[in-house]
Amino acid sequence: MGRLLETSDLSKSFGGIKAVQNFLIHIDEGEVIGLIGPNGAGKTTAFNLLTGVYTPTTGKILFDGKDITGRKPYQITALGIARTFQNIRLFGELSVLENVKIAFTLHASYSFPEAILRLGRYGREEQIIDDRARELLAAFKLDSLADEQAKNLPYGQQRRLEIARALATRPKLLLLDEPAAGMNPQETKELTEMIRWIRDTYHLSILLIEHDMALVMKICERIYVLDYGKILAEGNPDEIRNNSAVIKAYLGTEG
Ligand code: ATP
Repeated sequence: MGRLLETSDLSKSFGGIKAVQNFLIHIDEGEVIGLIGPNGAGKTTAFNLLTGVYTPTTGKILFDGKDITGRKPYQITALGIARTFQNIRLFGELSVLENVKIAFTLHASYSFPEAILRLGRYGREEQIIDDRARELLAAFKLDSLADEQAKNLPYGQQRRLEIARALATRPKLLLLDEPAAGMNPQETKELTEMIRWIRDTYHLSILLIEHDMALVMKICERIYVLDYGKILAEGNPDEIRNNSAVIKAYLGTEG
């Protein structure tokens, strides 16, 4: 397994707040990795650093052999990191199909004037994009809802659509920010199965922020625990479950 992502001494401060400090992680090809920690520990800030939303105060991010520190979010997406958000971000007024097609167009080769005039490559690529978007929707059992406005979908399906849209950019690394938040037990069970299926089907690595410990322990090969912006522990689910510093951080007391 090759090394896909590696950070060194990554940190981000907001004024006096050190949201993330000495954030040192690595992810290999095909791994499903958990990023857990109490509220305010810095998990979302870490995602925002990895995806170029924030420029780090210190440190470097190596992805797929390239230094991506300081690159813009759209450049990082094009290099192969995609994400979903804690608060789902879909284009609610657009159809389910259009939400996925928008992500595909990032990789389309036709120029804007061609698109306007519907000339040249546009017609062919438009058809290919349409077909691919429908294939993705079918894989996520959303094809029958292709023409529905995204905002009309139940919560669990909106989360699925957001993941499908993230995959349209063909990522090598998928970042999921609390995918189980707001899901009912049945939806969470389906999501648990879906995450491994995504990894195997699309041959990518996954970094997952999640508060649902049962889910994290079940699907993650390794877990990083953040506390007050610092990595408190790293290990496989058994090691994390039995780590006294982790237990203390979560329960406020040892044991
Ligand atoms: P949660 O589980 O509640 O989503 P989190 O682990 O994702 O929390 P972050 O949202 O990364 O934590 O926040 C880490 C710290 O950084 C918090 O103290 C937060 O208030 C602070 N912080 C995050 N973003 C900003 C910002 N843009 N400006 C100022 N402070 C911020």
